[in-house]
Amino acid sequence: MPKVTIDRESCISCASCWTECPSFFEENPDDSFSMVREEFRKEKSISTGEAPDGLAGCVQEAADLCPVQIIRIDM
Ligand code: SF4
Repeated sequence: MPKVTIDRESCISCASCWTECPSFFEENPDDSFSMVREEFRKEKSISTGEAPDGLAGCVQEAADLCPVQIIRIDM
């Protein structure tokens, strides 16, 4: 499964990723930056997760749309 990492310190909270792929990304209510939804997190990190096959496409779309290019996908 592709590993997804968000460099949250550089997020500008533009909402693109959680609008494009709300099944995987969501807005953190505390700091308003993007985070991985709980069910896909790895090692309890809100910045890192694994995308199941059914979400790989929308996660890639979200990464491509991120204006500051901080969503990294490692296959
Ligand atoms: S698309 Fe990028 S900058 Fe925008 S909220 Fe998501 S991670 Fe942050």
